[in-house]
Amino acid sequence: MKKLVIITGASSGIGAATAKHFSQAGYPLLLLARRLEKMEALGLPDAMCRKVDMLDRESVLAAVAEAEAAYSPAEILVNNAGIMMNGDPTTQDPSEWDKMIDVNMKGSMNAIHAVLKGMVDRESGTIVNVGSIAGRKTFGAHSVYCGTKFGLHAITETIREEVARKNVRLITMAPGMVSTELIEGSTDKDAREGWLNYAEEIGGALVPDDIAGSILWACEAPQRMCVRELVICPTHQEP
Ligand code: NDP
Repeated sequence: MKKLVIITGASSGIGAATAKHFSQAGYPLLLLARRLEKMEALGLPDAMCRKVDMLDRESVLAAVAEAEAAYSPAEILVNNAGIMMNGDPTTQDPSEWDKMIDVNMKGSMNAIHAVLKGMVDRESGTIVNVGSIAGRKTFGAHSVYCGTKFGLHAITETIREEVARKNVRLITMAPGMVSTELIEGSTDKDAREGWLNYAEEIGGALVPDDIAGSILWACEAPQRMCVRELVICPTHQEP
């Protein structure tokens, strides 16, 4: 059997699609998110599903330990859980900024914490951090979201350099617009409609499978080859 793949935010969108791609490729999975029923409904074989809030570091550690005992040490982490709450910075409730910083940055770090030391000790492993085109350039109404994704890109590249000689790869996956539930997290109606209208104007966003297939490809490249960053956007998306 292939080695364990951990996917965070596997209950919808890119994470759920990535779970299906890795499952079809024969990997045992640990799927993490808060909506357990949605992960279980995927009906994937050899997939341990655990209801975990990525902010709860102890729960993340416990789930990873349980899956490693059942399958194998973690070989791949797809660090995908994230939220986007777009809004006007002059009026946005700062608690929305807190939530984005917590989930997108601290939550991602909790998953890295759970697997990185083991990967370094074993001198094998791959971590894919799902950043964003909003981690490479700025977008109006996305200020703090951009901040979290710029930060995640910086964390990824810094750790990549630090563990490169230990045969551990860190990959930044930076998608452009993808049609998922993500935009529904924005309570600001104008910001939400602006995103949806632009997606419609350009003939539609990408679909989660577009990103999932690319994550699988990057992970299945020979271990000597590190795809450091993938920026994948709809062809018609200008910024
Ligand atoms: P979805 O909203 O469909 O998926 C987000 C996932 O994150 C869900 O499975 C959700 O699960 C999980 N999640 C959110 N908060 C937590 C938490 N506190 N603990 C555990 N899991 C959590 O959106 P996408 O698939 O689009 O997003 C996936 C990633 O892709 C995100 O990091 C996003 O920033 C990034 N991205 C998306 C783009 C897009 O256009 N869609 C573009 C660029 C990047 P649950 O609610 O069940 O906990």
